[in-house]
Amino acid sequence: MEINKKQQAWLRMLPGVDHILEIACADPFFETIPRSVLLHSVRLVLDRHRKTILDGINEIDEKSLSDSMILDKVKVGAKDAMTLNLLRTINATGVVVHTNLGRSLLAADAIANLSIIGGRYSNLEFDLSGGERGSRYSAVEDILCELSGAEAAMVVNNNAGAVLLCLETIAGGKKVVVSRGELVEIGGSFRIPDVMAKSGGILKEVGTTNRTHPEDYENAIENDTALLLKVHTSNYRVVGFTADVSLKELVAIGAKYRIPVMEDLGSGTFIDFSKYGPVKEPTIQESTTTGADVITFSGDKLLGGPQAGIIVGKKDIIDKIKKNPITRALRIDKLTLAALESTLSLYRDREKAINAIPTLRMLTLSFDCIEKKAKQLGKMLENIGNDRMRIELINLSSKAGGGALPLLELPSKCVGIKVRGMSANNIEKHMRKNRPPVIGRIEEDFFIMDLRTIQDDELVIIKTAFNNMLRDEGEITSLSLI
Ligand SMILES: *Cc1c(COP(=O)(O)O)cnc(C)c1O
Repeated sequence: MEINKKQQAWLRMLPGVDHILEIACADPFFETIPRSVLLHSVRLVLDRHRKTILDGINEIDEKSLSDSMILDKVKVGAKDAMTLNLLRTINATGVVVHTNLGRSLLAADAIANLSIIGGRYSNLEFDLSGGERGSRYSAVEDILCELSGAEAAMVVNNNAGAVLLCLETIAGGKKVVVSRGELVEIGGSFRIPDVMAKSGGILKEVGTTNRTHPEDYENAIENDTALLLKVHTSNYRVVGFTADVSLKELVAIGAKYRIPVMEDLGSGTFIDFSKYGPVKEPTIQESTTTGADVITFSGDKLLGGPQAGIIVGKKDIIDKIKKNPITRALRIDKLTLAALESTLSLYRDREKAINAIPTLRMLTLSFDCIEKKAKQLGKMLENIGNDRMRIELINLSSKAGGGALPLLELPSKCVGIKVRGMSANNIEKHMRKNRPPVIGRIEEDFFIMDLRTIQDDELVIIKTAFNNMLRDEGEITSLSLI
């Protein structure tokens, strides 16, 4: 690529790494910045300038190549590098199990337990009664059997891993019958046909998108059929002229032809949500009662625990799964195990579980409670006393999220904000850039915050965020008037 005279001049003006390092070392700002961070930041800034010059698209402001301007950029870069990337975030979206925002919040007991287990040695794989090597799965196996009614249980890294592991163990190289209506994509590239292919199972599709009948499964069974699979269509519903084969019917077909039956339950819950709304999510106990051989579900969706893939079912199959070498690659971490055991133990008292497990608490929060919080936040924002801000309480609905209860609209109370001279997009951006970030949504030019997913101690943080935004924006507005 040809570079012109101007570009050559700019490149010559660009200071060298050593020169910037030298002046940085004399600047007290960098006293606490590790040298590796400083060096990285200097290189990054200089590389970016060089690239802009070579691109030749934009005119370069020569001032931006001065030592002081470059040093300022290096400071911003170094400060950025020194802060952690994973940030505690305020979820004002109203989506309770929000995969992008970390799905479930852990119960206080689970957090306490993982901090103890994480900071100390533990009997993770040590059998204290016999004084010999033990299994890490034994920490949660008994309680999973107790809560689900299953004969045996084990846990892996996540439900995607659980499905892959089960398919590989039971049906590697053999046929698996699945309804066409259940060949779902969950998001984040989990697609049943793809996972099936990776497991070595051979997909045998039956029925149609909207209707599948028992005889469709029966007609598809061949000598090398190893599994009948039912997948919970977590995040979508086919409505209208539909028919599907229940897990119970599938288990009866499996028994007739002596073929195991598996269900990927997706979210998985021990709580019957039909008590709280008009929509039903199948429970883990109901699936176990049908006599299905294997059932898999997530730890961090409706269950409200840490990320995990839970497998419950018949002992002979679970034993085979435990011996599969893939299990080692999907091994659950001790922090997860600590949080999972605590979370599960809360389910021994269902009423207590609903209050102690944040996901359940938020899903079952009464409208009155949410409204009270919305009024409180509205008041706090009014007290900022800025006449540019318009605050409204708006009725909207929250979502369960996590691919669970897709049709459920949970009536909720939101605080909507408009600021004179600012677009809703601009408010959204300010809130996103706040520390901690406040993630809301935009509707009809309002920045909307749903109080269902905002924790009580976060109201004051939100007030400060708006206070800062109005102060900063106020400065910008008055500056632009000069
Ligand atoms: C969410 C989901 C998965 C994937 O579970 P992860 O725990 O996110 O790995 C698999 N199957 C179904 C039906 C799901 O809803």
